[in-house]
Amino acid sequence: MRKLFITSFLMLLVFLLTTADIFGDKIKISISGGFEEIRFFEKNRVVYYSLSELAEILGGQLDWEIIGHKVKYTEPNFRFDFLIESPYFRLDDSLFNLTYPALYDEGQLFVAAETFTPFLDGVTVQKITWDGDSRMLRVEPEYFNVTDFGISSKANGILIEVFLTSALNYDVFVTEGNWINISIPDARINSPRILSRKDPRYMYKLNVHQVANTGQISLRLKKNVNKWSHKLVFDPPRIQVSIPDIDFEIDPSDTSPVIGPDNKIDVIIVDPGHGGKDYGAIGQSGTREKDIVLNIGKELAKIIRKDKQFKVIMTRDRDEYVSLEERAKIANEAGADLFISIHANASPRKNVTGWNVFFLAPARNDSARAVAQLENSFFLRELSAGGDNPGETDDDVYYDPIVNILNEMIMTEFQAESHDFAMMVDREFRRNLKTPARGVDQAGFFVLNKVFTPSVLVEAAFISNKTEEKILKDKDYQKEIAEGIYRAVKRFKAKYENQ
Ligand SMILES: [Zn+2]
Repeated sequence: MRKLFITSFLMLLVFLLTTADIFGDKIKISISGGFEEIRFFEKNRVVYYSLSELAEILGGQLDWEIIGHKVKYTEPNFRFDFLIESPYFRLDDSLFNLTYPALYDEGQLFVAAETFTPFLDGVTVQKITWDGDSRMLRVEPEYFNVTDFGISSKANGILIEVFLTSALNYDVFVTEGNWINISIPDARINSPRILSRKDPRYMYKLNVHQVANTGQISLRLKKNVNKWSHKLVFDPPRIQVSIPDIDFEIDPSDTSPVIGPDNKIDVIIVDPGHGGKDYGAIGQSGTREKDIVLNIGKELAKIIRKDKQFKVIMTRDRDEYVSLEERAKIANEAGADLFISIHANASPRKNVTGWNVFFLAPARNDSARAVAQLENSFFLRELSAGGDNPGETDDDVYYDPIVNILNEMIMTEFQAESHDFAMMVDREFRRNLKTPARGVDQAGFFVLNKVFTPSVLVEAAFISNKTEEKILKDKDYQKEIAEGIYRAVKRFKAKYENQ
């Protein structure tokens, strides 16, 4: 009897440990040197925190509309509208998907920490980051005003650029050993980003120093610096240091882009979508789009690089955030001949499956619009700080952000070639992929819209579908996608080169 009791007690314990969600705990917020705590719980391994308590700490306000289960979170510069139990929410007048639903518990609104925090970060003046490992939310005062660095060869010398968020005082001085130092008294330097721009073709070293408010970027060039000049320019604001009469003779066989157009089809841009704080879509078992598409992108780059007639430039080759503007800039500066963006699709309807190939044009049906919305959403929220709000249609559940995009979309120039290339990818995929074909469609993607070259966006499969989530993780499938695209690239070259 006693034994039976103990056994059932143990079973009950096991049952509780395996099924119970963790409720009522507190997570820490590190904010301006101190700590605060807010409620959180974990459900299906997703951490949700109380936006009600967070809003109070940040000085915002939550308003409940009990009928209709709506919650508004308002601050002077932005407004979120949530629907309890729905993953969709509005930020000002655009609709987005959080992957996980907003939840109600004991009078408070809970949102998924991992997917919601980047949105909050995008609209607040503070830098807000969620650290899933230590379960801590960090709120820091707004951060970098020195954002990026570039070095490039020009006709007569080299150009060094330091990108700023606004005009800043600075000084440039050259010290022994060909060190070029750019000193900025009121700098908050994005050091990781800038250090990642170290280009060994030009420099032995690239250093960033930040001491209190003063920042300095120093680089040691591989050639002698005899004269230099500098100026502050705008659009975007940046410091330019020109060093004339210096010749680096950059080896053309390395991956440096050929600047300017030629009549060869040889510079291929591989653009794995999302990255860093932008996770893209998330599968039911937690697979992140940004990781899958990076793997496919790397595989594709590897395959194309084996073919020596092509040069490949990746817009990102690691888990980092690259803005859409930046991706377009990379392509345009490289004189790209083809731009291939790689993504994984997602739908609230979990049974939807298949691959798609999109080219840039006004979206012609609802599912193409939904895809464009999904892929544009991260960028649109960055835009949505300003801009006016076009109306929404009554019968459309989604607010259609493409309206915004189409207004400024003039890039129909490469539509025919883009369509043709999309059809070539389609043909290769149909031949080799086991996932269902959804075929070629047109949609207005922001990332494609500023690239001055034929461009397509491949949705490799639906990460929101359990089976396809698994398939997407399969190395063989990733390889098949990459090989299909590569064969289409070869066809495209054969058809269009020297035309
Ligand atoms: Zn995507």
